[in-house]
Amino acid sequence: MSAPRSADVVVIGAGCIGASVAFRLAERGASVVVLEREPMAGTGSTGHCAGGVRQQFSTAVNVLLSKASVITLENFQDEVGADAGFDQCGYLFCLADEATWQSFQKQLALWRSLDVPARALTPDEARALVPGLEIGDLVGCTFCPTDGIADPHLVTQGFVAAARRHGAVFELGRAATGVRVEKGRVLGVLTAAGEIAAPTVVNAAGPYAAEVARWAGVELPVAPLRRQMFTTQPLPWVTDKFPMIVDMKSGVYMHRESGGILVGLADKNEPPSFNTNIDFEFRDLVFSLAVERVPALEEAEYRAGWAGLYETTPDHNAILGPVPGLEGFQCANGFSGHGFMQSPAIGRVIAGFILDGRSPIDVSELSLERFQRHELLVEANVI
Ligand SMILES: Cc1cc2nc3c(=O)[nH]c(=O)nc-3n(C[C@H](O)[C@H](O)[C@H](O)COP(=O)(O)OP(=O)(O)OC[C@H]3O[C@@H](n4cnc5c(N)ncnc54)[C@H](O)[C@@H]3O)c2cc1C
Repeated sequence: MSAPRSADVVVIGAGCIGASVAFRLAERGASVVVLEREPMAGTGSTGHCAGGVRQQFSTAVNVLLSKASVITLENFQDEVGADAGFDQCGYLFCLADEATWQSFQKQLALWRSLDVPARALTPDEARALVPGLEIGDLVGCTFCPTDGIADPHLVTQGFVAAARRHGAVFELGRAATGVRVEKGRVLGVLTAAGEIAAPTVVNAAGPYAAEVARWAGVELPVAPLRRQMFTTQPLPWVTDKFPMIVDMKSGVYMHRESGGILVGLADKNEPPSFNTNIDFEFRDLVFSLAVERVPALEEAEYRAGWAGLYETTPDHNAILGPVPGLEGFQCANGFSGHGFMQSPAIGRVIAGFILDGRSPIDVSELSLERFQRHELLVEANVI
């Protein structure tokens, strides 16, 4: 089949975000071309992600995006026609100081008001859930049983296959090299093999989003930040019920992975870069912090580690939707560590902006304009 020369929408990037957007547009009848410079979809940040899916955020907009995504992940087979590998093992937040506990008390009220079934647990109740959990320093915990872990590969390929069934074309191994803009509106996307004319372009380029935006004359505050994760060999005490644990004291998170444990931590001192090397000193620090919360990890044998890139904004929240003064350019960027879990909802959000002129979820707090207005959105639960 010859390469398409025009489309209603060109999506730049086939990670979980671009694939989800392409599916929701195509199922509603739009002609869609997705440009992905790698030979496969989902090998960018998506392919390096921990797969965590949680609704326990401190801002309503993040809760609503995750809640809508959880509903899609629960019904992935019916809605998308694929298995999402969604294991609702729950997220357990461990809270070790009074101020954080007070903040989570307010969040529990928010979650109740939005019908998210998260609840407070005493430290003893948390230890009943995770035998061996160190609780001596804990003030309390929260647990949401409908949070969990999904498979980034299955979810992304599920969206790709479903989008294709609705006629979307994925041009794999074909990079976008520019965006053609004239008189304040988008006219198409440039590639080495020629231009694809389109009145609408979706920037779904993950950590490379700022570069893509610059082609269209847009300053997008999205920076790449290395994030590392490490796994252990299988451990006999890791049961099917082992939840995702987030230790708010150290920032360490961990979940079940191939019979062992995966541990990760956002290094607050990491400078922006495209570096994805492993730092073994950092690995040792992450494991030592993880052992403080789950002492049995002391005996664990190291298995593997990898690093990927967060696409981070100044307030650690996504940038979604149109750009004022530039017709036809849509942002689906800057997810700052929670893009995978929100990807099922983002497809509908961006398709709504393009096809209906508005999002089905009010994401006005996540517009690019918030940076010009200096109205950053404070999200307390950034991991
Ligand atoms: C270690 C780690 C752990 C994480 N854990 C979680 C987690 O537990 N839960 C969660 O929700 N999120 C997590 N994240 C974040 C999550 O992975 C990202 O937010 C999400 O994958 C972003 O998806 P994306 O599609 O926007 O980006 P990507 O997956 O990076 O996709 C962007 C695509 O655009 C392509 N591209 C770029 N430029 C061009 C161009 N010029 N032309 C064509 N194609 C281009 C790239 O090749 C890439 O495939 C984690 C991230 C990391 C690194």
